[in-house]
Amino acid sequence: MSAGKCEVCLEEKLKLVTCGRCGNRKYCGAGCQRKNWPTHKHACQPKKQPSWILKITIPDSRDPQIWRTLVCPDGATFQELHYAIQVAFGWAAAHSYDFVARDPTAEERSVADIRALMQHRMALDKGEHRDFGPRQNFIRIINPDDDKMTDSMHAYGRKHSQTPEKKADKVCVGEQFNKKEWKDAEWEYMYDFGNNWGHEIEIIGRGKVDDVFECTSGNGHAIAEDVGSMSGWEELKNAYRAAQPDNEQKKKMHWFENSASNFDPEGLKERESYVDLSIINALLRTSMDCTD
Ligand SMILES: [Zn+2]
Ligand SMILES: [Zn+2]
Repeated sequence: MSAGKCEVCLEEKLKLVTCGRCGNRKYCGAGCQRKNWPTHKHACQPKKQPSWILKITIPDSRDPQIWRTLVCPDGATFQELHYAIQVAFGWAAAHSYDFVARDPTAEERSVADIRALMQHRMALDKGEHRDFGPRQNFIRIINPDDDKMTDSMHAYGRKHSQTPEKKADKVCVGEQFNKKEWKDAEWEYMYDFGNNWGHEIEIIGRGKVDDVFECTSGNGHAIAEDVGSMSGWEELKNAYRAAQPDNEQKKKMHWFENSASNFDPEGLKERESYVDLSIINALLRTSMDCTD
């Protein structure tokens, strides 16, 4: 509240009410505010909120662990966050993805669920849809182009009849991170349902009111797409570490330097921790635009 003139009745007041949505209009009280709303609503734009500072880690990666700190605008959609993660981690956006808000109190899936998973898969083959195991997630945010990606057929274990799904281009990051119903949720980004690259998303703070993504720190070379999950990545690193690589290892290194979707002609030798923030941020600036 502040002193000044009501924008409707023009009365001078010591205390004025401000439009809570945009913060731009001042009224003598609720009466004038209500009267003005039918006109004001066309101009009333929600106030921008501070960006989110996210530490995103591939928890299964070791020696070095691969992580990035990303500044994410509050108004960004999950699809935009997906593209920003792709750029920051050096992925090639060649596979499908989802985001889930994990329920920390959810009952873990037991080993017996592996059998349930097999049964589930067989049920799917017959066109039936069954949940396997207890619900794990509050919400699942899906790739709107899921049907174009071949690996999306492997996402059956991530669907659940009690987990609502929303399309990533329709939901804003801030709206979901602020949800009271799952404020303690652990957010996860899963990329490639074949290789299963899980990324943990930890909210570590709030930044400025900002419309751009920025990668502020990180460690670890981009993982090669289709390398064969984490064990395949470890094998590739071992090939580069070998003093005398065998033929199999030479083939792997040649593939990584020439044919992987996110190939790196410089290879991995002494570059396992490589990350270039200036390149990432240049790409984020040119390929991402979160202003409307
Ligand atoms: Zn008034
Ligand atoms: Zn307003």
